[in-house]
Order: sequence, then structure tokens, then C-alpha cells
Amino acid sequence: MGQPGHASNINYPFLTGGGEMGALIRSIDWSANPLGEPSGWSPALQQTVSMMLTTSFPVLICWGENYIQLYNDAFRPINGETKHPQAMGGSAKATYAEIWEQIGPMFQSVMQGQTVGFPNFMVPLDRNGYLEDCYFDFSYSPIRDSKGVTGGILVICVETTEKVKAISQAEQAQAAVASQRDRLTSFFMQAPAGVCILDGPQLVYELVNPAYQELLPGRKLLGRPIFEALPELVATPLQEVLLNVYNTGAPFEINELLIPVAEYEGGPTQNRYFSFTYQARRDVNNKIDGILVFVFEVTAMKNVQEDLREAREQSDQQKRVYEAISSGTPDLMYVFDLDYRFTYANNALLSMWGKTEENAIGKGLLENGYEPWHAEMHEREIDQIKNTKQPIRGEVSFPHAILGKRVYDYILTPVFNELSEVAAVAGITRDVSERKQLEETLANSSEELQAINEEMATTNEEMAASNEELTATNEELAFVNQQLLEAQQKIEESETALRLAIEAANFGTWFIHSETREFITDARLKELFGYYPDEALSIEQALAQITEEYRGYVANKLENAIYRNGDYDVTYPVIGLHDNQLRWLRAVGNLKADPSGAFSAFTGMVMDITEQKQDEMRKNDFIGMVSHELKTPLTSLTAIVQVANQKLKSNEDSFLAGAMEKAGVQVKRMSNMINGFLNVSRLESAKLVIEKREFNLEDLIEETIKETELTVSSHVIKFEPCNPVMIKADHDKIGSVITNLISNAIKYSPKGKEIDIKCEIIGDRAQVSVKDEGMGLKPQDKDRVFERYYRVETNGTQHISGFGIGLYLSAEIIHRHDGEIWVDSESGVGSTFHFSLPLH
Ligand code: ADP
Repeated sequence: MGQPGHASNINYPFLTGGGEMGALIRSIDWSANPLGEPSGWSPALQQTVSMMLTTSFPVLICWGENYIQLYNDAFRPINGETKHPQAMGGSAKATYAEIWEQIGPMFQSVMQGQTVGFPNFMVPLDRNGYLEDCYFDFSYSPIRDSKGVTGGILVICVETTEKVKAISQAEQAQAAVASQRDRLTSFFMQAPAGVCILDGPQLVYELVNPAYQELLPGRKLLGRPIFEALPELVATPLQEVLLNVYNTGAPFEINELLIPVAEYEGGPTQNRYFSFTYQARRDVNNKIDGILVFVFEVTAMKNVQEDLREAREQSDQQKRVYEAISSGTPDLMYVFDLDYRFTYANNALLSMWGKTEENAIGKGLLENGYEPWHAEMHEREIDQIKNTKQPIRGEVSFPHAILGKRVYDYILTPVFNELSEVAAVAGITRDVSERKQLEETLANSSEELQAINEEMATTNEEMAASNEELTATNEELAFVNQQLLEAQQKIEESETALRLAIEAANFGTWFIHSETREFITDARLKELFGYYPDEALSIEQALAQITEEYRGYVANKLENAIYRNGDYDVTYPVIGLHDNQLRWLRAVGNLKADPSGAFSAFTGMVMDITEQKQDEMRKNDFIGMVSHELKTPLTSLTAIVQVANQKLKSNEDSFLAGAMEKAGVQVKRMSNMINGFLNVSRLESAKLVIEKREFNLEDLIEETIKETELTVSSHVIKFEPCNPVMIKADHDKIGSVITNLISNAIKYSPKGKEIDIKCEIIGDRAQVSVKDEGMGLKPQDKDRVFERYYRVETNGTQHISGFGIGLYLSAEIIHRHDGEIWVDSESGVGSTFHFSLPLH
């Protein structure tokens, strides 16, 4: 095999020139090659090589049965980097192994004298390290010697790969353009929007799709200039717009344009709404040659929008009407959807929750702060209403954050849709706590009086039967009985009257910035102070409406609450600015530090309790009057019983003596009770007068204990005497506080238990404690026992008589002395009631 590099200096006349390949051929050591020294090459071969080296066509010669190859400069690129230079002087079978299956048979037939040739013939050649599809125009011709015998093949071969590729790319591009055009046309024709193409400066309808034609049924458009086909456009702004698009190429878009159009030429016009876009169409030279029009008719949509707007307006108006109704009522009004979510809540309900419409509507019961049992109850009721289509009425009681335990009366009603199915559930809830409480108190007091009555009657009978001397007393007692019965009847009558007093809770709310004293209030609060909702209201202006006797007190409380975190629950009368009306208001406030720490927000609400207050005043007057009336006969009864007692002491009839002693105890009990009521009534009408004088607290305690021990022997009362403690206070009233604490300790602990009374000085205060080993109090009752009429309702207490006023009165008395009263207690273990009074 000949290799380049063996420089051969032999000079062959037919091997001159021929560029790089000529030089390569000459430099090969041919002696080792099957072709042999060029001098020995056949004349036909020599001749052909000489021709090959002079032509600029790519030529390859394959000689002999191994097809030894020789090629020229023009052929060199066809062999690429992979095949050159080994191909030179080597066998074509080896060089073209990857395509030999294709070209081998052709070579054979050429060797048998034929000529073979094809244009753009494709072969996968590896000439640069990978297979590539290459195209050639080629011809294979036999090289014959002088005797006509074929010794080799002359290959003339022009590569056409680039040309073929370019052609195929052009074909593909053409096909793509055609299909795009087809798609566009079919898109135009099927588009739900009206599409048309206006051609040339005359804007002739060149294409009109069915949707466009449908907008103008019966109008001939195709092939006609637009202003001829639609003369109603002439001299309208649209004409100008169209011409401008054609002249400048600036696209134009307009929405919901009102155009009066006639369905047929010359027909009546109708108001129709269209949205348009106009776009210039350009030819190959980018010159504008038409306009592409897209049109949507939006008349139907416009009409629907209009209907919708009207419907909305109507429903808004309706809503405003309902809101006006529901926002003015103290009742809680709301609507649930069937998934138990609130779709409406009136102002009263929102302010009870302390929420706004935004964060309450769409929420369920739990999310709005209902306890699980309560939420489940209403959910069950909503289901029931859905199934039965019947309204439900009920009563529910639960603790209110500010007002304590409340009782509510509510009605849930189905709301039907046009198919008479339940679509929602509407409800109204009314706070009936005050009414309930009054009912209960009155029921209690009449029971108590009834019981006393009965006892008196029995005692009466006993005495009448045993001693004539007591007839007079009997009569007196009968008279008292009669009076008691009358009182009871009066109480019953007033109960009916009071039942009707259902008061309202319609809150106003406020916010005070502790630094700036900015005062933000709602309309209801302004209204409560007699201001119009849009008027500004400052703290000072609000205070000015409070009656003079309360103003200083409220102002102090307020300052104390804002700047010293004092408690704020005040009741005061207000004279409205514009309406001059007297209203009793109860304000409850709460100080909260702002998260930034820079200021505090003092917020709260004001309720109109005028009705309640008036009821209360009427009731107090009534109780005061009844108590006062009862006091006179009771005083004479007490005197008579005392005299009788005295007389009977030396009598040998022990039954009579015992009965009279019992009568004495009952009369005492009754007068304590009546005094209690009298004090409540005085307190409430601000007639409870505190008369201070200096006395020794220790002495008072001892006296009180002695007095108690006269009538009670069931308990062991212990008192650790302390040093004399001088205080300046109302002697009798503090005495009644101590009496009350001791008698409670006796009432609420079993017989035989110990009662410890202590008196000590702690700092600048004197503190008295009464400890018992009785039933004790649950944590939730501890603070509430000081409320008026509050009694703990358990099996253990239901047989113990009382009105729930003793501790209330005690607390009021202590507070009026700037003292404090409180209880430490554990249920089932015992209680210790304490009060403290300032020493100076
Ligand atoms: P009354 O005893 O007439 O009901 P009070 O105002 O004196 O009224 O007491 C209010 C309630 O406080 C009582 O009904 C009772 O439930 C509870 N209570 C008062 N003192 C005690 C005590 N020492 N131990 C347990 N409970 C008490």
C-alpha cells in the first residue's frame, strides 16, 4: 500500500500539475501498491489520470479489481477528514464500506462495460466522523484500454446536498404558508366573531365570514365597497376611523359602541352595541392594502348587564329598607344559610359579638364565638326547619361577656324560595334576662312570705287554743296575716305588670386613644347623647350631657380607667343635646394596650337602660313602700311578743313559753328581712345614708357575736380577741355587715361546725374575716354572690331561705366606706368572707 511521504523523484510527463492531489500522487511510493510504478500504468490509466489532474470537476478513478483510487483536488472535500488521505492509492471497497452495498453492484456493472449515472443520488457517507445524508449528481463510466478492455471506472461526481436541502426547506416553507393560510381562512370562516377583510383604498369586502354576515342579514356585502354596502356609516365617526386605519396603519379598538343599524338596506335602524377591532393588512412589501375587521355584537350582554344593574339596585334598596328596620331594634336579627353560616346579622348582634359585618358574615356559629353545645343546638334546629318547614321558638341561657348570665327568647323561621323549599332560616332573639330575674325574685319573695304566713298561722292557732290571754295578740297576728296576704297579692299583681317590662339593649360603642384622647364613637352612641349621627362628639361634650350630680363621678371614673387602668362600669343619667330627653345609660369599658406599646385603647359600650332603670326605680319604690307598711304592725307585734315572753317566763306552762319564744325568733327574722328590703330600696334610691362616728371595731364584733348566740346554739362561734381597733364608720351598718356574714356562715354550714371570726390590722386597714366549714362556693359563684338577688342554686341551697340581698347590701356598705369585701372559698370545704376598712 503506497503512503505519502516516500518522496519519489521520478518525473512522469503525465503526472505534472494537478494541485495538491497531483503532488500527493507523485510523492507516494508506488512500488508497494498493487497499481505499481506509474511508469507501468496502462496508457488508458495514464491518459485518464492526466485528464483528471487538469479538470476542475470532481473526478475519482478506481482501477483494477480492487478499485485502487486516485482523485483530484475537486474531489478531495467529498472524502472529508475521515477518508482522506488513506483513500488515495487505497481500495474503494474499504473507503466506501458504509455504502458499498449501494455502489458495489454499480461498479461491477461498469466493469462489464456499462455506464451508470443518477442525479441527486443520496448516500449516507461517513466523511467527518459521523453518517450524513449526502446527495450527488454522478456518472460512472468504464475506462477502456486500446484493446477495448475495461480496466477501471471514471467517477465524475458533483455534490448537490446543499441544493437539495435548500429545495426541501423551500418546499416545507411553502407548505407551511399554504396550511397557515388555510387555517386562517377556516378560522375566519368559523370564528364566532364577525370577521371581514376590506380590500384596497375603496375598502371593498373581500372576505366576509358567516358570523359577520349574520350581523347584517340580507345585506349584500362581498365585492362591494363598505360605504356603498352600509351607507348608514357614511359621515359617522366610524368612516373617519376606517380611513385613518387604512392611511396610517394604526390599529383601532372600541368596546360596546352604540350603532343604530338596519337589518336590510333602507330598513328601520335598531340600537345595537358592538365591540370592534380594525387592523391594517399589509402586502409583501409591507404596504397597507386592506383592513382586517373583527366585530362582536354585545347587545345581548349589554341588556343582561342593564337587567343585572336594575336587579341589583332593587335588591340594594330592599336591603336598605330591611337594614333600616333591623338596625334600629335591640333584638338580635340574623339569617342562616342551610350550611349554618350567617348570611346576615344586624347591628345589635354584631355589637354583641364585638365583630364587624366583614369578619362575621359567611362564618358559622362556632367561628362567631358560640359554644359547641349552643352551635349544635341551632344547627339541629336549622335541619329541623329545613325538614318540617315549620318555625321553632325557644329559650336559651348563656353567659354574656359583660352582662353575666342572660336569658334569651328566640324564634327561627324558614325563608322559602320560589319552589317553596326552605332556602334560609331567619331568626330574632330577644334578651329577656331582666324579666326572668324579676319573675324569679318575686316568686321567691312570695314563697318566703307564704311560708312565714303559714308558720305564723300555726303559731297563732296554738296560742289561741291554749291561752285566752293571747286572744288580743291573736287578733293582732290575724291582722298581720291579712296584711301579709294583701302584700302578697300586691306583689303578684305587680309581677304581672313587671312581666310586661321587656327592656332593650341597644349598644353604642366608643374608642379612646389614651395619648391623643381621640374619641371615636358610633352613630348609636351619639344618638344616646342626643347628637346627630354626623355631628362630631368629643369626650368633654359627652360629659356635658351627663346630669350635674353624676358628671364629676363619671369623669373621675373615666380618667381613672384610662390612666390608672381602673374598672369602668358606670350608670348615669344623660339629657340628650337636641332631643332634651332623659336617658339612663350604663357604660362598660375596657383598657387594652396597643400592640405597639405606644398607647392604650380604651374601648367599650353604652347601653340605654332607661326602661330598666325606671322599672327598677318603680320596683324599689314598691318594695320600699311595702316594707315600710309592714314595719309599723311588725313593731307593735315585736313589742307584744316581748311583753308576752316576759310574762310567760314565770308561767309553768312550758308549751306556751316555748311557743312564744318561737314567735319571738320568727318576728325577729321577719324584721331583719324587712329591714333588708328597706335598705335595698334606700340604697337604690340613693337614700342610704352613712353616718360615721368613731368606735372600737373589736367591741362591735363581740356585741354582734353575743346577740347571735342568744338565738343560735347550733354552731360553735370562736373569736380571737385582737387589740382595740378604732375606726370611723357607720356603727350600725358595719354591725349589720358582720351580722350578715355570721348568719350566712351559720346558714350555709352544717350544725355543730365551727365558725372562726378574726380581726387584724394589715397595713393601714382593719380586716375582719368570718370563716366557716360549710358548703363553700364554686369559682364561678365567688364574685357573683355580691350581686343583687344572686343566689347559688344547688340541691344544698334550695331549702335555705334567703333573697340574695345580704351580701349585696354588705358590699355596698363596705364600698361606701372605701373598703373592700371578698371571699376565699373552696367548694365542699368552706368559705372565708373578708372585709377591710381604712383606719383613717
Ligand atoms: P341569701 O343568703 O339571703 O341568699 P346573701 O346575699 O347573703 O343572700 O348570699 C348570697 C348567696 O351567697 C347565698 O344565696 C349563698 O348561695 C351564697 N353564700 C353566702 N354566704 C355563704 C357561705 N358562708 N357559704 C356558702 N355560700 C354562701
